[in-house]
Amino acid sequence: MPEIPDIEAYIEALRSRVLGQRLLGIRVVSPFLLRTVDPPLEAVAGRRVEGIRRLAKRIVFELAACSGTPEGAAESVPVFLALHLMIAGRLHWKAPRAAVPRKGGLAALDFPDGTLLITEAGTKRRASLHIARGAEALAALDPGGLEVVGSSPAAFEQALRRENHTLKRAFTDPRILSGIGNAYSDEILHRARLSPFKQTQVLTEAEVVRLHGTASAVLTEWAERLRAEARNGFPEKVTASRPEMAVHGRFGAPCPVCGTAVRRIVYADNECDYCPACQTEGRILADRSLSRLLRDDWPTRLDDETCPSGTDRSLDPR
Ligand SMILES: [Zn+2]
Repeated sequence: MPEIPDIEAYIEALRSRVLGQRLLGIRVVSPFLLRTVDPPLEAVAGRRVEGIRRLAKRIVFELAACSGTPEGAAESVPVFLALHLMIAGRLHWKAPRAAVPRKGGLAALDFPDGTLLITEAGTKRRASLHIARGAEALAALDPGGLEVVGSSPAAFEQALRRENHTLKRAFTDPRILSGIGNAYSDEILHRARLSPFKQTQVLTEAEVVRLHGTASAVLTEWAERLRAEARNGFPEKVTASRPEMAVHGRFGAPCPVCGTAVRRIVYADNECDYCPACQTEGRILADRSLSRLLRDDWPTRLDDETCPSGTDRSLDPR
């Protein structure tokens, strides 16, 4: 979080505001944000924004050399700002020279017409900003996962089956598939009617093809929806869960397809919301310690409800 559709929405909003504009400077207030030392921050000031695009889950600003840049010929290659918002990082569009908020403020990018604020909720400082000189340095930041939208079913199958993982893990691993996290993996697997804990190497051909089509459709639909919203105003309410979602963030609510209560599994930093009727043939996925206790009875079935009440328990996806 934010995932592809959220990032596409930010990019849509940013293009209309800062594309072609000169970046006057960056005020970095969090010592954890900037992860590179060369090129220095000063090297980006005064450069014009030539492009804004997505690289996996990063928002990338392409900055051209400006006539006013003192660095000379060596700086005539484009310089890229690559911003990763991680879980809790957010962007805000404010008036020119707006102050960086004391609470959660990480940095401000100053443009003639406004200020792009980067904030991060909570106490963990995970959001990162890299400054890369040239396309090669930028490409090194790509974790290498497949961009599902526009990919061929064969490439998708290859990425998915290269290692054996649960579908939930494969969909949220940026080295396997690009730009997908907790929310859209839940939505994709629900629409594809597949268990989040099904192993990728046992998927049938038909399941792989269905999953590829579903993943492309879900990501495209959501990106279009959020981009359209972004055209009406800067995306200030970027949240992992939206009321239009089928299962993600809807623990306990009825599945929109079949009416069964949506279940949730929490493990490590991750969570998984799914519909037992649509996705796991009625099985309720329990955690590993519980499975040890239940042995042969695990996973419990929806129709005999032998598991303790409250389904909010952890499960190691392996
Ligand atoms: Zn259902």
